Amino acid sequence: MRAAVAPEPVQRSRTPHLQAVETAAVAAWGLAQGVVLHGSDRWGRCTAPDCANYFPDTTANRTEQFCSARCANRLTPSPP
Ligand SMILES: [Zn+2]
Repeated sequence: MRAAVAPEPVQRSRTPHLQAVETAAVAAWGLAQGVVLHGSDRWGRCTAPDCANYFPDTTANRTEQFCSARCANRLTPSPP
C-alpha cells in the first residue's frame, strides 16, 4: 500500500513580470474605458508642436485642438 503523497504547496509569489503584466492590463483597461465612454473616433491629438498627447475630444464637432488648457494658453496669443 502506497502512502498518499501530500501535494506541494502552490507558490503564489508575485513576480516582477506578473506585476508588469498587471500594470499593462490596468492601463489597457483604462484606455478601453475611455474608448467606451468617448468612442474610438473621438480622440484628438494635441496640436501643440512640443506636445504629443492624445485626448478625448468631447466637443460637438470635434474642434478641440489642445489636450489641456495649459497647451491652449501656451499657443493661443493672449490679447494685449
Ligand atoms: Zn498638449
